[in-house]
Amino acid sequence: MIVDCHTHIRSLSDSLAVADFLEVSEKVDACFLLADPCDEGADSKQLSEQVRQNDKLIGFASVNPLEDKLSEKAITSAISGLGFHGAVLYCSQKGFHPTHSRAMRFYAIAEELGIPVFFHNSPPFTSEAVLDYAQPYLIDEVARTFPSLKIIIGSMGQPFVDQTLCMLCKHPNVYADLSIDPTKIWQVYNIVINAHEADIMDKLLFGSGYPFAEPGSCIETLLGFNKLLADTNLPGVPREKIRAIIERDTLSLFDIAAK
Ligand SMILES: [Zn+2]
Repeated sequence: MIVDCHTHIRSLSDSLAVADFLEVSEKVDACFLLADPCDEGADSKQLSEQVRQNDKLIGFASVNPLEDKLSEKAITSAISGLGFHGAVLYCSQKGFHPTHSRAMRFYAIAEELGIPVFFHNSPPFTSEAVLDYAQPYLIDEVARTFPSLKIIIGSMGQPFVDQTLCMLCKHPNVYADLSIDPTKIWQVYNIVINAHEADIMDKLLFGSGYPFAEPGSCIETLLGFNKLLADTNLPGVPREKIRAIIERDTLSLFDIAAK
């Protein structure tokens, strides 16, 4: 099974963008489709329709704890009520600290309801985004306070990859998505070798970050990882460890039943 745990549709109102996305999603068995941070209400309804129409799509609703209602009833209705299975938070883009008191209230409810939380605090950043709030170590307090909450740090928490590696070593319920840019060979090499040396390859989830990259080319780059090192003495990573990331059953990991 291949689960792409990080995808977006460029524009839900653009039928061509939706068609492109659906074509790309044919290459995987399931994908987490993340709502965008702007205009959450409209986006959620359109996203919900897509998710309901396609069994491969696992929707994540965008939650802004500063603005959204935080009762258990309101969160249930905004997430499972619309057919979603998780929540995505854009702390740096929306300008809230990951441990803001309202965010902590949200995590308490998410933990109780078994809703996984995806922290999408990675590039590309707008000039207004608060880079401070993108730092993965700020999620440490969240993981300590809510040890049963399942957390995904998006895109390895780039550009703060070292902080992400530390979080993955430290917390059993914190994972990270290995969405790579197949054109940035040296960056891919460093992320994968650092994860391998930190012995946290089993905490990495496959993600493409579509539309920034397509799952097919990400898989090809990862499987050809050791070929990147041809004619060098640089250390490699056992191919089975990379294959295990690509084939990880991320649905079971997050208690999400296949539709
Ligand atoms: Zn993304």
